[in-house]
Amino acid sequence: MPKQKQLDPESKPDDRVDNALRPQKLNDLIGQDQVKENLSILIDAARGREEALDHVLFYGPPGLGKTTLAHVVANEMGVNVKVTAGPAIERAGDLAAILTNLRQGDVLFIDEIHRLGRAIEEVLYPAMEDYSLDIVIGKGPSARSIRLKLPRFTVVGATTRLALVTAPLRARFGAVYRLDYYDFDAMKLIVERAAGLLKVPADESGISEVARRARGTPRIALRLLRRVRDYAQVRADGVITSDVAQEALDLLQVDPLGLDDVDRRVLRTIIEKYNGGPVGLNTIAASISEEQDTIMDVVEPYLLQLGFLDRTPQGRVATKSAYEHLGLDYAGEAQQRLL
Ligand code: ADP
Repeated sequence: MPKQKQLDPESKPDDRVDNALRPQKLNDLIGQDQVKENLSILIDAARGREEALDHVLFYGPPGLGKTTLAHVVANEMGVNVKVTAGPAIERAGDLAAILTNLRQGDVLFIDEIHRLGRAIEEVLYPAMEDYSLDIVIGKGPSARSIRLKLPRFTVVGATTRLALVTAPLRARFGAVYRLDYYDFDAMKLIVERAAGLLKVPADESGISEVARRARGTPRIALRLLRRVRDYAQVRADGVITSDVAQEALDLLQVDPLGLDDVDRRVLRTIIEKYNGGPVGLNTIAASISEEQDTIMDVVEPYLLQLGFLDRTPQGRVATKSAYEHLGLDYAGEAQQRLL
């Protein structure tokens, strides 16, 4: 039986709901059609040859389904999945312990793979390529290295920053897939499915409203759905209608395009403090006391996708649409160039 990620007893109820809602098979997965089709070919071919699957790397903004896909891959292959993350593997010995516990065909899911240490990567290269592990025994002049054979296993890596994955590591993945924001239709299906599984009464317009404001990200959709459900329960008659969803999401300061307070603060900072830009990301982060990583991984990709932000060699620039969305006057590029 394929084993699922163990539920952490300390995990928050919301995380548990998320885990319970994870699609298990490729067919349950909504959207990402191209990734799904490519994966199904990869999986069918490996199964047909009775081989372990080639190593797979998923990249894209958080909450789009990288972890889910790793589990789906393992389920489809009928193998176990072992879950870890780049920052969790501190020493080469930690990785050696994980690798020697794998069985034939198993999936080793490494989240945030761009955060693996250099020394750890060095151990991972021969493991991925030749399924072998070099271990040094002893110290000083009597130290010697022995080579252990590992079972054929599959690394499924996930990262929000492909650019930070070193070239040698990237080269060891047989397939690299990019996950994109989901379109509105896919988001609607995801919210509808989750509402069904959570037994939350919702009408079509209520579902659309949550889907529209979830910035193309399933994890955000699930979170908003839960908060709207709370609102419907406490302030309405329990049913998520368009009005209920709008009121709840307005109260959460999630605007009709899905921008939240942090997104708006980023745009306002560029516009009001730096006259529309260009301004560097670190300056923006410092101005609003947010982590630079959050802005890079979560805020910026969505603003770029909406066309509210431009990336220039001099820094980030707010576009005319961003001014319009915030209801601010746009004096044109000339004004920005004056600075
Ligand atoms: P990531 O690893 O990219 O941060 P996850 O795989 O943890 O994202 O996905 C976040 C949540 O969104 C999961 O709880 C999962 O239930 C849900 N989810 C992700 N992709 C889909 C999808 N294609 N269809 C339905 N639900 C999805």
